[in-house]
Amino acid sequence: MPFCKRKCLYCDFYSIPYDHRLSREYIEVIISQIKRLPGRFTTVYIGGGTPTVLDPELLKSVLKALKPKLAARSEGEFTVEANPESLDDRRIKILLDSGVNRLSIGVQSIRDVKLKKLGRLHNAKKARESVYLAAKRGFSNISIDLIFGVWGERPEDWKREVEEASVLPVKHISCYSLTYEKGTPLLTAILNKTIQPIEDDLASEMYEMAIDLLAGGGFRQYEISNFAKRGGYECRHNISYWENNHYTGIGASAVSYISGVRAKNVSSVPEYIKRHKDGVSLIDSNEKLSSVRRAKETAAIKIRTSDGIDFKWFRDKTGYDLLKLDRDAVTDLLSKDFIRYKREGARLTGVALKHRGYLFCDTVSAALL
Ligand code: SF4
Repeated sequence: MPFCKRKCLYCDFYSIPYDHRLSREYIEVIISQIKRLPGRFTTVYIGGGTPTVLDPELLKSVLKALKPKLAARSEGEFTVEANPESLDDRRIKILLDSGVNRLSIGVQSIRDVKLKKLGRLHNAKKARESVYLAAKRGFSNISIDLIFGVWGERPEDWKREVEEASVLPVKHISCYSLTYEKGTPLLTAILNKTIQPIEDDLASEMYEMAIDLLAGGGFRQYEISNFAKRGGYECRHNISYWENNHYTGIGASAVSYISGVRAKNVSSVPEYIKRHKDGVSLIDSNEKLSSVRRAKETAAIKIRTSDGIDFKWFRDKTGYDLLKLDRDAVTDLLSKDFIRYKREGARLTGVALKHRGYLFCDTVSAALL
């Protein structure tokens, strides 16, 4: 849902300022595309932008169209992203009445100074209130995102923040290190030397701190950036993505991955609406991946999960033996202490990240690609 009230200073996602007329037209298009989707889906995820910035009636209409597309409630995971400043009683009721069973709130921080630096619209009080309100109204599966490594942030500040976040009524926490993306005001500020990013060692220290503190708070790390309470609160939508399963993306800038073809829709709401009306393809670019490429991508994504890659699973999934596919890369990663073998008795059953691998996960993924 590519609309936001205002652009955050670090964000490089496609999103435009919310416009009621345009969003109405856009939602009509989205609904007609949803209705044409064949079958049912085990997970549905409405991301942003900011889905909850939509006028309540529009939000209701798009959720109503999606509801019949989700597998039966007990099996299906239906997530909607929300931002604290646009999450109110009315929208929460609409989400719950529409069968949404997982709410991902873009809290990002519960410290005012950090939220200001990131250019977020909400403050820490609003962030906490939105989580408590959603829980009180009936959401039992709430996730929040937290960003660390903001310039000037001290490990002790981050420690207090994680400790506080872990006792909120949430079942899932995603922690991301701040990155300075191309085209964002924050990257410009770095280049102009207006701000100075924190040292990598400090960012690593904060990351390790989060892992320890969240483990102490009952959150199991199941992917490099994701932590869930026990009892099945891992995000099934993301797990499916990390297993490199197929998915269908609807909307401007959305990506689909079907039968080995990755296709990206045009990144413009007006263009998307126009193409739909003209009956022209919505796809801006696509790429047919070879079977080797698909297998390597599967390895590069799946290694980021705490379970790592099971050799048999990999063979069944891709048709390739991981060690034969790229023995040199695996051997190199083992020798550098980034990954370890998984074993059952004397038998090697797979590979998974070691502590050092978590800190250098992008290097590990790149090596397997
Ligand atoms: S609310 Fe999310 S999508 Fe919108 S500008 Fe901020 S970070 Fe980007």
